[in-house]
Amino acid sequence: NSFEQFKLNRQLLNAIEDAGYTQPTPVQEQAIPMAMAGHDVLGIAQTGTGKTAAYVLPILMKIKYAQGQHARALILAPTRELVMQIAGSINQLSKYTDLRTVALYGGLGPKSQIEAIHQGVDIIVATPGRLMDLYLKEDVILKQLTTLVLDEADKMMDMGFMPQIRRLLEVLPRKRQNLLFSATFADKVERLSYEFLEFPTRVEV
Ligand code: AMP
Repeated sequence: NSFEQFKLNRQLLNAIEDAGYTQPTPVQEQAIPMAMAGHDVLGIAQTGTGKTAAYVLPILMKIKYAQGQHARALILAPTRELVMQIAGSINQLSKYTDLRTVALYGGLGPKSQIEAIHQGVDIIVATPGRLMDLYLKEDVILKQLTTLVLDEADKMMDMGFMPQIRRLLEVLPRKRQNLLFSATFADKVERLSYEFLEFPTRVEV
């Protein structure tokens, strides 16, 4: 299994095998080593390319152990469907670890999401609106984050989420790794990358 080329641990390699992935996809080939080396990454990749695992695997390697109460990685995505899909991928790839993932999205009451957070969370996957609500109510603590992912960033811009994302970024620790994925490299995405990424590695598939 040529996922062996990455310095992933055995728990992750076993989960990758269970998922039936035999070869890394092009975006995974390029992005995984860069993200694991700690670089910011700008990924231009559409759904279906394997972009989710391209950022999830480096995050799982970086976080490794469940620890304390507060999240260390945050993934923002535009829709509830995408949030649930990403959380499903994380759960699949982290099945042999003790890492805890919580999915936060609107369209239903926050009670069960708040309960899940309070049991301890390592990775948050969220839509910006619901995350902002829970942050303002102090149900979510973001001060221990070390990795931020903006997935489908172009779509989040089109849906008008940028003001909320900027507000969230103001309260995140400054020293962190940023991974930005977008289906297109429009001017607005280029401007966003200047704003959010530091010396990014660009990966395009
Ligand atoms: P994504 O582009 O992240 O939405 O992934 C698209 C689909 O490809 C998902 O169903 C993944 O489970 C699957 N997938 C991701 N990486 C691989 C891989 N290396 N080999 C086979 N399938 C994969």
